Amino acid sequence: MGRSVSIIGAGVIGLTLAKDLALRGIEVTVYDSKRNVSEGAGKASGIFSVAGLERSGIPYRKGLVNTLNGAVLWAGKESLRIKSKDTKAYVVDRAILADLCKSDAESAGAKVVLGKRMDRDRLLEMAADKDNILVGADGAVSTVASVFGFPSAKEHILTYKAEYDSANIEDRHMVGLYFSNKIAYRFFGWSCPYTDDRIELGIGISSRAKITSTVAFKKFMASGMVDGIIGGARQANGFASIIPLSARARTVKGNVALVGDAAGQVKATTGGGIIFGALCAKTLANVIEKNVKSGASLEAYEKEWRKRYTMDLKMHSVLHSYYSTFSGKSLETFFRASKLLGAEGFFSKYGDMDRPSLMIKRFFLRGLTE
Ligand SMILES: Cc1cc2nc3c(=O)[nH]c(=O)nc-3n(C[C@H](O)[C@H](O)[C@H](O)COP(=O)(O)OP(=O)(O)OC[C@H]3O[C@@H](n4cnc5c(N)ncnc54)[C@H](O)[C@@H]3O)c2cc1C
Repeated sequence: MGRSVSIIGAGVIGLTLAKDLALRGIEVTVYDSKRNVSEGAGKASGIFSVAGLERSGIPYRKGLVNTLNGAVLWAGKESLRIKSKDTKAYVVDRAILADLCKSDAESAGAKVVLGKRMDRDRLLEMAADKDNILVGADGAVSTVASVFGFPSAKEHILTYKAEYDSANIEDRHMVGLYFSNKIAYRFFGWSCPYTDDRIELGIGISSRAKITSTVAFKKFMASGMVDGIIGGARQANGFASIIPLSARARTVKGNVALVGDAAGQVKATTGGGIIFGALCAKTLANVIEKNVKSGASLEAYEKEWRKRYTMDLKMHSVLHSYYSTFSGKSLETFFRASKLLGAEGFFSKYGDMDRPSLMIKRFFLRGLTE
């Protein structure tokens, strides 16, 4: 049929989709308003499960900065230490990752056009061409979604993160998660080491909170939770950003589809969107190939990605709703009880950052303590 694909957004997900389509011999062009794909890459963190990265096919190896074995979860003075003897996750430099994704997409034959913001008129023009498939991979605040009237995500997480040099890092292979509905309303604060003395600290708060993420970050830094890390450390940068907390109720309309953060394919527990976004991009590439080769409907994308990934994404939502409603004291009690029941051992052995369904299956098969 000679159809072509226009992808709006040269983020990791748009570029991953472009590479996949180009490898299938489909004509694809990616547009982004940025002049450089790594611009603003520091707004987000780069913590990805080892298994998820392998499944996603994202070219991350040259961007690796650290390996992670586990996490310490804090609620007030109570903590849960979940530590595996194996590497569970990688910390990847997001600027390098963006460049790697771009060069992979271009080597596969995709065209990447930078410095071009796509406005309403241009998007309507693109979608009016029935020989063109238009994909919105344009992030949480998707112009494609709003121009074509896709339903919005119900809640977002507002974030602020900063990197610190000369920090005191006890174990560079462990992240810290700090829960407190007073400081990080319906989400959490975090610390993620890059090296022995460089660390990222960040916070997320629900868009329902009445404050900005910058104010929340100041409160987090003054809360005493991370005093041990930042005593004497220097702040190197700081970025505010946004994460969608749930998938949009619809992600395909005619010849327009959404993927990645634009579709809300994000884990509600952590805000991680790269692994599921990349997996959904693969599903979209399969559907587009069938559309281009035999005229099959794009609607199959909606059914396919939901069939494969809704169970885990919903479970992340349920877990998020669960922890986000606890008051400080109840969460401390919950942590204390979980520890007594052997949760640290269970999660250290069976914890899965991406697929809670596997963890829950094991829980029902074996119980918390074996
Ligand atoms: C603080 C923070 C920490 C995070 N940590 C992690 C993590 O550790 N692990 C993880 O998996 N995920 C993490 N995420 C989420 C992850 O960053 C996103 O899920 C991911 O970047 C989404 O990729 P994307 O390609 O869909 O969208 P984006 O990366 O947002 O890319 C969208 C692109 O579209 C372009 N664009 C937008 N509108 C237009 C337009 N009209 N015309 C042209 N171009 C346009 C933008 O310039 C941008 O380049 C984090 C997010 C934040 C904010």
